[in-house]
Amino acid sequence: MSGRTVRLTGWGRILPSVAELATPATAASAAELLGGRAAARGVIPRGLGRSYNNAAQCAGGMVISTARLNRILSLDAATGLAACEAGVSLEQLMVAGLPAGWFVPVSPGTRQVTVGGAIAADVHGKNHHVAGSFAGHVASFDLVPPGGEPRTVTPQSDPSLFWATAGGMGLTGLIVRATVQLKRVATSRVLVDTVRTADIDETMATLAEHDRGYGYTVAWSDSLARGAGLGRSVITSGDFAQPADLPPPDRQDPFAFRPGARLGVPPHVPPGLINRYTIGLANQAWYRKAPRSRRGELQTIGTFFHPLDGIRNWNRVYGPGGFLQYQYVVPFGQEAAVRRSFELVSGARAPSFVTVLKRFGPGDDGLLSFPMAGWTLALDFPARMPGLAGLLGRLDRLVVGAGGRVYLAKDSRVPPGMLAEMYPRLAEFAKLRAELDPAGILTSDLSRRLGL
Ligand SMILES: Cc1cc2nc3c(=O)[nH]c(=O)nc-3n(C[C@H](O)[C@H](O)[C@H](O)COP(=O)(O)OP(=O)(O)OC[C@H]3O[C@@H](n4cnc5c(N)ncnc54)[C@H](O)[C@@H]3O)c2cc1C
Repeated sequence: MSGRTVRLTGWGRILPSVAELATPATAASAAELLGGRAAARGVIPRGLGRSYNNAAQCAGGMVISTARLNRILSLDAATGLAACEAGVSLEQLMVAGLPAGWFVPVSPGTRQVTVGGAIAADVHGKNHHVAGSFAGHVASFDLVPPGGEPRTVTPQSDPSLFWATAGGMGLTGLIVRATVQLKRVATSRVLVDTVRTADIDETMATLAEHDRGYGYTVAWSDSLARGAGLGRSVITSGDFAQPADLPPPDRQDPFAFRPGARLGVPPHVPPGLINRYTIGLANQAWYRKAPRSRRGELQTIGTFFHPLDGIRNWNRVYGPGGFLQYQYVVPFGQEAAVRRSFELVSGARAPSFVTVLKRFGPGDDGLLSFPMAGWTLALDFPARMPGLAGLLGRLDRLVVGAGGRVYLAKDSRVPPGMLAEMYPRLAEFAKLRAELDPAGILTSDLSRRLGL
């Protein structure tokens, strides 16, 4: 099969590169692409391209898209075990599972990610403190490693390959199928409590308290607030509602889920629309609009889990320069580093609109999985913001000094030399890669930059 030559970016729309894009329609033809004649300049899988930078790009090589491997093969209504091809999106799983009372076990902030991408980045959601990350809910996957001989991998049958692939950013092979254990829910609505906090201390204390009482928690923080308001946030915490929580008319259809209808962003947004003044105003408006405290609000899955999915192509709002996300985690006990990171960002007047603070539960066995028990902060910035490189360099040093790490699915610039400090199992990953793929067929723009 031959592909077409395309220019690809990640969701942040920075660092484009040109590759041959293959879209096999069957697992067998996908396997052929990784067989003896695999592209000399490298091959990397790609899902829906929702990683922020170039993890799913391979300049001058081949990118294997799972866009046509998008069938749900079976979904057991009694057990919630779903078998699907790797290009199935989390939205597809929700549409198929909800009528029988099944939801995805872990959802990132967008449902437009594939099952393959969710395993490869071992994604986390608002329930990490109780549910861990995505791979913990995967019973098995079929992996095509370099050489093209597919194999079924489970955490029991081949733990090292399983946990190298979970979080392994596509560098162990192409996942073509997976079996995922879905989560039982009683309705498709979430019962949400909202609290507005005055400063970083109250934000952290409230998050810690809410982690004990709720299945889903997250804080949206005002990244530009300084002084007494540093780290002020709106915390939303919730759990899936019971049918009796719904207004009587909605009880007829407790699993209603309408993912459609989305607003769009115009294709050409002027550069500089997002700056410290517009974001400062937006942050203030968002913070002030939130109630000091509100209990028991019913929210849809879209509003609670995926507010940004409501605006098609919202990534274009940053204009032609694109944007980048920076997400770190530092262990518990490093609260001073979290506070310092807020000081650095607000001190630099760096306009981050999506600023999300959360507490992770324990990490899993993924060699390159991002989550570990501790505090995680996600920030996004216009890529052309003056002074951004210096700010992120200071954040890197703070994070490494605190024993933390940055998230590879969002990374575009962490210095390669820092990676081993951030990911202590990197050498194990490199050893397994050297055995599995001695010719280095699996290669992405991310892996080239970081020497993965
Ligand atoms: C709005 C938004 C919110 C987000 N929120 C979160 C969040 O809350 N938590 C979180 O963890 N992440 C979050 N992310 C990041 C996103 O969940 C991950 O980057 C995810 O991997 C994207 O999946 P994808 O299908 O788009 O994969 P892609 O972006 O296309 O690829 C991501 C990586 O997975 C590999 N890959 C893809 N498919 C396969 C396959 N079949 N076999 C092997 N490797 C494969 C690629 O090679 C690449 O390394 C968010 C992203 C966006 C845009």
